[in-house]
Amino acid sequence: MQAGSKYEPVIGLEVHVQLLTATKIFCGCSTQFGSPPNTNVCPVCLGLPGALPVLNKQVVEFAVLAAMALNCRINETSIFARKNYFYPDLPKGYQISQYDKPLAEHGYIDIETAAGGAKRIGITRLHLEEDAGKSLHEGFHDSGERSYIDLNRSGTPLVEIVSEPDLRSPEEAFEYLTRLKEIILYTGVSDCNMEEGSLRCDANVSIRPRGQKEFGTKTEIKNVNSFRFVRQALEYEIERQIEVVEEGGRITQETRLYNSAEGRTYGMRSKEHAHDYRYFPEPDLLPLVVDSQWQQKIKANLPELPEARRSRMVNEYGITMQDAGVLTATRSLADQFEEAARAAKNPKKVANLVQSELMGRLKAQNLGIEQSPISMKGVAFSADLVESGAISGKMLKDLYDLAFERNQDFPVVYEKEKPQQISDDATIEKMIDEVIAASPKQLEQYRAGKTTIIGFFVGQVMKASKGQANPEKVNELLKKKLG
Ligand SMILES: [Zn+2]
Repeated sequence: MQAGSKYEPVIGLEVHVQLLTATKIFCGCSTQFGSPPNTNVCPVCLGLPGALPVLNKQVVEFAVLAAMALNCRINETSIFARKNYFYPDLPKGYQISQYDKPLAEHGYIDIETAAGGAKRIGITRLHLEEDAGKSLHEGFHDSGERSYIDLNRSGTPLVEIVSEPDLRSPEEAFEYLTRLKEIILYTGVSDCNMEEGSLRCDANVSIRPRGQKEFGTKTEIKNVNSFRFVRQALEYEIERQIEVVEEGGRITQETRLYNSAEGRTYGMRSKEHAHDYRYFPEPDLLPLVVDSQWQQKIKANLPELPEARRSRMVNEYGITMQDAGVLTATRSLADQFEEAARAAKNPKKVANLVQSELMGRLKAQNLGIEQSPISMKGVAFSADLVESGAISGKMLKDLYDLAFERNQDFPVVYEKEKPQQISDDATIEKMIDEVIAASPKQLEQYRAGKTTIIGFFVGQVMKASKGQANPEKVNELLKKKLG
């Protein structure tokens, strides 16, 4: 580990994100995941001779939206290019991608560092390309001798997002990926489902002696299928490179695969260079022009992004940045929360209940927020009840427990379990008299003009009635008594 401090890792990430369009990028075939093999195909995505690509407009709009969310500059004109290589899952023998004139460039994502500060990670480029098919090496009776091919994925629209080599630790890479995914999810252009391959990540990593300007020789770790594994693979690879260098060896530029079961990377092949692909402009497609008018139209669909939303929510609801972080984890959760909070008497109380009562119970039962029996509206409803004194904090906890036990929303449980209300004037008046008699100091303050202290009296009466007194009645009668 001592050697580790002598060297500085340099990491850059290439992320492929599948766009959530109904059809493929250059043909009308469905992009539906999980269809029977080779059913969503046509002459275009099968690469049959003479078939011509037609660009899907929605793909362009989704990609531009993603680029804008990542603070990229949109190039008004970008060029599709052929990337030539042979692989069984690539029927045309080339992939249509973008090369020297990508759709967008010069973006960034701000990440939080371990020290608590912010760091800006540059995004070199975002370009459009088509996905390849899938070779199936497992699951058939003769998988020992044969591989099968499913071309449903061939021609699925992707954006590739390439970062600058600005990341200096596996932790920063993890943070960058988390933020990137969050932003893309907010734009709604991808579901970022890693199990289904909608988000894939390759990591370039090298090491250099601290203080040295030049980069070391990098290796590329391919297709790691979770952010946690990306972090682990980088940790392993950095240690491996340090060992090689410390022993007087040299790093070979190569592509490596991460084996998550063994926690190590393996050399796969020497890394390709750009010239290996013999890029040239795609002759079957015109330059892509996204003029400023079209850009403005797309920009109108840009939602408020998570970082801005967190800051606003902190100001608007008086919650902490940490609370805001939890509540903005997905756009739909944030929407639900805000809708509920705006309707509630005390938005801060709603945020508190989510944090203190809801999250803990969800965690204990291993449930995601979207599986919560209590909706955000339910939380807001319960907050109002506590706020008005209709139920005590203890009662609220019991009702939350019941809601989780029965898998029912809070209002349903409350209707069934709510305490018998006392609305009878004489009984309430008697309780009020007792409370006033027991609180001479507060009475004095009230009479001296501090009328806000009425809240204290309401609370005391509600407590005395074990939450059963009708709060409106209590308010009304108290005002009369106090004069
Ligand atoms: Zn097709």
